[in-house]
Amino acid sequence: MPNAKMFVKDYLTNNMDYFKQISKYIFNHPELKFEEFQSAEFLMEKCRQEGFIVECGIAGIDTAFTASYGKGSPVIGLLCEYDALPGLSQTPNQTTHQPLNLDIGHGCGHNLLGTGIFATACAIKCYLEKNQLPGTIKLFGCPAEEGGSGKVFLVREKAFEGVDVALTWHPSPINAIMGLSSLAYCQAFFRFKGVSSHAAMAPHLGRSALDAVELMNIGVNFLREHVIPEARIHYSITDTGGTSPAVVQDYAEALYMIRAPRGKEVNDIFKRICKVAEGAALMTETEWEIEYINACSNYIPNRNLEKLLYKNIKEVDLPEYSQEEESFAGKIWSTFSEREKKDYLTTLKNFGYNGDGSEFEGKFLSKSISPYVESKDVLVASTDLADVSWIVPTAKITMTTSALGTSLHTWQMTAQGISSYAHKGMLKAAEVLTLTVIELIHNKQYLELIKEEFAAFTSKNPYICPIPDNVKPPTK
Ligand SMILES: [Zn+2]
Repeated sequence: MPNAKMFVKDYLTNNMDYFKQISKYIFNHPELKFEEFQSAEFLMEKCRQEGFIVECGIAGIDTAFTASYGKGSPVIGLLCEYDALPGLSQTPNQTTHQPLNLDIGHGCGHNLLGTGIFATACAIKCYLEKNQLPGTIKLFGCPAEEGGSGKVFLVREKAFEGVDVALTWHPSPINAIMGLSSLAYCQAFFRFKGVSSHAAMAPHLGRSALDAVELMNIGVNFLREHVIPEARIHYSITDTGGTSPAVVQDYAEALYMIRAPRGKEVNDIFKRICKVAEGAALMTETEWEIEYINACSNYIPNRNLEKLLYKNIKEVDLPEYSQEEESFAGKIWSTFSEREKKDYLTTLKNFGYNGDGSEFEGKFLSKSISPYVESKDVLVASTDLADVSWIVPTAKITMTTSALGTSLHTWQMTAQGISSYAHKGMLKAAEVLTLTVIELIHNKQYLELIKEEFAAFTSKNPYICPIPDNVKPPTK
């Protein structure tokens, strides 16, 4: 499809400034999970202006929306994110840590992610119109990727019904197909209620909720030796019940996060942690309760869809970088410790990279494509994209938007969030995704192959939503 290639490239180049402005707006209005009101409204307005039919507040979430265009098959889902993170405020285009007054920042690059998906939707729409082709694009405005399991709520409310494939991308230092599975997880508050008293005059009358939290944590720390090695159990004490040691704390709270390769393993560990909490309450004569917050499943890769993305990622011309861009990226690289740099190279091996890093000398922006491997490895992290992958064939690419070594959720990531090279990567991601969708529109046979692969897995492994029905997403 040589004409399609030229068309997509021209379309994105001609509208480059428009898309950059959108990315900058979202970057400059960072909002936390489930509170992305300005970003969602802004994106919805842009979708309306482009002629999409917008439905807002889907699945009972105020900041979730869909924007649809077209008719008939295939129905392509494009997953758009726009939430930011606490503690990651940073002045853009600076190579030292300089937080702004906001405390919130786009430390995961979702301003780029969201805009890249919007650009993809616009480019496909234009292609369908120009060629008068059937096909439906459905952009999903997915809030709360960062610890809110936004997409899992959308899946639970059947928002993706009728979608043939779902595609997305993520900002990254590398150009790759994200084919790794991920860890399932759940998180819940454990709350203890005791009796307060004067810690010196009447300690025998007090029943300490803080003691209960501490004993629970100790119990869980002993449990760690007796769970599968791939499991991860994290906690934080979110309420100590007060700051005075002279008062027996009558209330305390811990937030637990449990991860494992499969949902069933998460559930088994969660049940055992509940027993530990019950034991801690028994020991301290306190009462306890759980508030289940959210959860997500493990990611199911679709190899045929990934192969199509890989074909297209190899066919586009990767961006060229100016000396100025390389120099800025080099300054970012120099902010990492030797250990961080070494660790980073180890991480790259998960994506099929086999070098020692020596060829990076003087080149801090990746100009290569990581070889595609059907990796059986599991990414030691969780994503709510996983639940979409259980109900729709799903795939994701990463494109270079940051210097080598840049981890997600760091001030360095925010610092590069509206850099010239980040926007080059954003538009390149849109190009790869658009070409892939165009191929799916024309090649129904290949689409069937993708769906058959998906059905072969899901017919034997039915999806069970990890978030119980009674757990609702937060609303304002
Ligand atoms: Zn992210």
